[in-house]
Amino acid sequence: MGQIIDGKAVSAKVKEEIRLETEKLKEQGIEIGLAVVIVGDDPASQVYVRNKEKACETVGFNSFKYALPAETTEEELLNVVKELNEDKNVNGILVQLPLPKHIDEKTIINAIAPNKDVDAFHPVNVGKIMVGNYDFVPCTPAGVMELIKESGIDVSGKECVIVGRSNIVGKPQAMLLLHQNGTVTICHSKTKNLAEKTKNADILVAAVGIPNFIKGDMIKEGAVVIDVGINRLENKKLCGDVEFESAEKVAGAITPVPGGVGPMTIAMLMKNTVKAAILNKSK
Ligand code: NDP
Repeated sequence: MGQIIDGKAVSAKVKEEIRLETEKLKEQGIEIGLAVVIVGDDPASQVYVRNKEKACETVGFNSFKYALPAETTEEELLNVVKELNEDKNVNGILVQLPLPKHIDEKTIINAIAPNKDVDAFHPVNVGKIMVGNYDFVPCTPAGVMELIKESGIDVSGKECVIVGRSNIVGKPQAMLLLHQNGTVTICHSKTKNLAEKTKNADILVAAVGIPNFIKGDMIKEGAVVIDVGINRLENKKLCGDVEFESAEKVAGAITPVPGGVGPMTIAMLMKNTVKAAILNKSK
């Protein structure tokens, strides 16, 4: 049976480090502020935003919540983003996705000042990740890297297989693993013989969005399995993209859902926000 990688414990450790750093910065007169903008009343987004607010409280940030109605126009949202770009009390800006259909997500992301883009979704930050010279790392892939590191796994030379190629998880995950000298394969819905690819992985990252998609027989004996998926089943239970029961019998180490990558995403958001405060102060 594989080692269970405890994302809750690792994220608590990261948050404690951030709390101490925030305290020190406060002594130097630097307050850290994170603005979270949510449009509409998507229940999952409400939960994510509430968790982010709680995390801000835990680490000692000032959090500014902008809860806007679903009918907010793109122009109105752009004005809020512009205001936050100018606001000296705000170091990091996060616009919770998805946005209502009538608002173009790309337009909004592109309007966030790159030095306050703590989600690292702005093309400037995406480009910086590509060339390996970045300030902010997208939170979920960064959380995955932290879990791999905390588990004592050296990425260098390993076969890393990512299932999923989204801009927020799969693609940046590939770059981060590549920067650590992993040999990276990215799989997606058009990949042929998927199980053959996943079975070759020393490190397997699942970011598919399909409950229990990766089964034990798709995993190499002793592999590190990181499950990014968060899926809510009809019985309201959360489950990942990996079938935990069969996978844990084969994996050398595995993240659970919940309690794996999820808590790390928020911890890494806090880390990016501290970075933003330090960067913005020195400008
Ligand atoms: P997307 O829907 O944007 O991407 C899913 C990816 O999976 C796509 O690249 C798609 O391929 C691929 N895919 C779909 N079906 C198959 C298939 N049959 N075989 C192989 N690949 C397939 O999802 P996200 O990246 O945004 O999220 C993935 C999961 O991670 C979700 O469960 C989401 O809830 C979760 N998540 C968790 C976070 C956390 O904090 N833990 C944060 C963000 C997401 P194609 O490109 O060809 O369509």
